[in-house]
Amino acid sequence: MEKYDAIIIGGGPAGYTAGIYLARAARNVLLFEGVPGGQAGTTDLIENYPGFPEGISGADLMEKFKHQAVKFGLKIKDGMVDSVEVREGKKIVKVREQEYVADALVIATGADANKLGVPGEEEYRGRGVSYCATCDGAFFKNVPIVVVGGGDSAVKEAVYLTQFGSKVYIVHRRDKLRAEKANQEMAFKNEKIEFVWNSVVEEIIGDKLGVTGVRIRNVKTGETKVIDAEGVFIYVGVTPNTAFLGDLVEKDEKGYIITNENMETNIPGIYAAGDCRKKLLYQVATAVGDAATAAWAAEEYLERLEAGQEV
Ligand code: NAP
Repeated sequence: MEKYDAIIIGGGPAGYTAGIYLARAARNVLLFEGVPGGQAGTTDLIENYPGFPEGISGADLMEKFKHQAVKFGLKIKDGMVDSVEVREGKKIVKVREQEYVADALVIATGADANKLGVPGEEEYRGRGVSYCATCDGAFFKNVPIVVVGGGDSAVKEAVYLTQFGSKVYIVHRRDKLRAEKANQEMAFKNEKIEFVWNSVVEEIIGDKLGVTGVRIRNVKTGETKVIDAEGVFIYVGVTPNTAFLGDLVEKDEKGYIITNENMETNIPGIYAAGDCRKKLLYQVATAVGDAATAAWAAEEYLERLEAGQEV
């Protein structure tokens, strides 16, 4: 069984930041990457992470984070963690039948895109239905695109998609956006974007080649209609990737991990950082802050263990 001082689960901004801090503290630390770069890695342009006044692509920013962590000696393995258990205070991380043991654990597994759960969504996934504009946007040049949702992701990615699509419809179930004001403004002033308010998607329709349209229903009038589109990008929120933990740590009703202000969970030596944690603001900047605190607290925990003090 491989042994480490600390194991980090997750290869997004929080995971790499925890890696930078713990590796720089000369700890023997292993990170399981899962989805390299996490959600930030597939964001076209990040404009609110300080230090990059012109903005930076999520992929570039995550590459820099990773490079910095590796420079300080972070070990990285790919693979999704199947489960975690605690035996006599040791944290046992199971990946593909292998067990890895550490004294401290930082959970930075982020969150994944929610599904709409409508007919056609699964059937046309990869053939018009997507959850990642930076990955798939370029497939939809000069054709109409539908974006579903009214949060920051929907609005920002809709603006990004206007460089490809002939037109981008934002279908939102209310008549007010949830996105922050700056992102709203960008969408409102983009002539290629048309808002379809108070409307939900009932079905994604298509033929053997892929998506041809989206059937929507106005929730106020009950009226249904089909919007012709070849691409459908779904941004209806996220769910934290914490199911693999079972009930090992305390979570809220949506699955977000509950921590104290030092990012410590109810289990000593287990910390959570970033989008998998219950908190006010889900951003790269706050993921970085969480992870720096989590790594610092983990380092103090390791020092107390080594000194034979109570943890
Ligand atoms: P979000 O903020 O939770 O927004 C989800 C949107 O989808 C909401 O507008 C919601 O409508 C709608 N929705 C949810 N379920 C739906 C359903 N079944 N059918 C139709 N619409 C549905 O999620 P997000 O945009 O992915 O953002 C996640 C977090 O990351 C947020 O905290 C966000 O601020 C942050 N983020 C920030 C930036 C940035 O540039 N600052 C960029 C991306 C993400 P209602 O509004 O009616 O609830």
